[in-house]
Amino acid sequence: MDAEIRVPEVELIALAERFLRSHGLNAAQTGSLARILVAAQRDGSLSHGLQRLPGTRDTMGHPDFNRQADPQPESLSPAVTRIDAQYGFSCLAAERGIPQLIEKARQVGIGLLAVNNGFHSTALWPMVERIAEAGLVGLSMNPTHAWVTPFGGTKGVLGTNPIAFAWPRGEKPPYVFDFATTAASRADIAMHRASGKEIPDHWGLDASGNRTTDPAEVLAGAMLPFGGHKGSALATMIELMGGPLIGDRTSRQSQDFDKGANAAPCHGELLLAFSPELAGGLVAFERAESVFKGFADQNVRLPGDRRYRTREQSAREGIAVSVALLERIRSLIP
Ligand code: NDP
Repeated sequence: MDAEIRVPEVELIALAERFLRSHGLNAAQTGSLARILVAAQRDGSLSHGLQRLPGTRDTMGHPDFNRQADPQPESLSPAVTRIDAQYGFSCLAAERGIPQLIEKARQVGIGLLAVNNGFHSTALWPMVERIAEAGLVGLSMNPTHAWVTPFGGTKGVLGTNPIAFAWPRGEKPPYVFDFATTAASRADIAMHRASGKEIPDHWGLDASGNRTTDPAEVLAGAMLPFGGHKGSALATMIELMGGPLIGDRTSRQSQDFDKGANAAPCHGELLLAFSPELAGGLVAFERAESVFKGFADQNVRLPGDRRYRTREQSAREGIAVSVALLERIRSLIP
């Protein structure tokens, strides 16, 4: 295993900001992306932590990437807000749209935030967590690139299509889950390829449509959704709601838009907020707690528990980060 050191959060954010600024990204996008990548690192969500930083150079190198994007939310109706990420990183647009989303959901019980034209390279949980911290239920989803075949097919049509959900729990941290709808993440498959390991044969198909345990063949063929026809349908819903519903690209269109830049996928992101207080009254929270008690009684891990524990440890001891990764990031600052 790589040697690791623990670094205070402020220092890691400063390093990530220095890196992004040195590659010409404006201050607002820099601050937003640096905080989110470091938050993922802090919570041990390493696939979307600081290891993503070097690859942001490819994204910023896309011919349409906008280093100066300055997205502003636009209210379309009492429940709907749109924000155009202006071909910059999606996270700044989501961050700037969320206050209006929260406001609308508090007033009318439901809010929809459509983020358009954003390059997306982050985990979804930081945004739904914010919605839940405001006492609302949050849901977020987006398409990616058409690497995934629908159940029964052999060719990529769907994205890895992540979905994140958050339920507010008062003084306790919210219930949050966040995962892709594939049998395994693309990063995991690539890691198996790098270490010469086989993968389970339900993770993907080769270019001829046959199940395979060779990760390289899956990366050149098609990934499979999790849970057979059920995961496939869920991934399709995400494809439709994070793309066409908000007037944005499908995973296939996002992939075509890449133009060989190897950038992060560029597409829409849908965020929804619901008010349990308006829809269900205070009983909504009490009844939800009775569900979570059923978990606690059996000592069952809730999604989010591991992250919150890692977050506490990071606050006490600093954030764990690989020494080699830190060196690489520093070496890429011109
Ligand atoms: P995982 O399969 O690792 O699942 C992660 C989720 O499941 C977390 O909420 C985790 O909670 C929870 N969890 C894991 N194990 C258990 C368990 N035993 N019991 C209860 N809960 C559990 O996620 P993925 O690899 O599919 O996705 C990882 C990240 O990648 C996500 O943050 C996602 O947003 C991101 N992603 C982003 C994309 C994009 O377009 N930007 C595309 C694809 C993925 P905990 O965190 O507490 O461990």
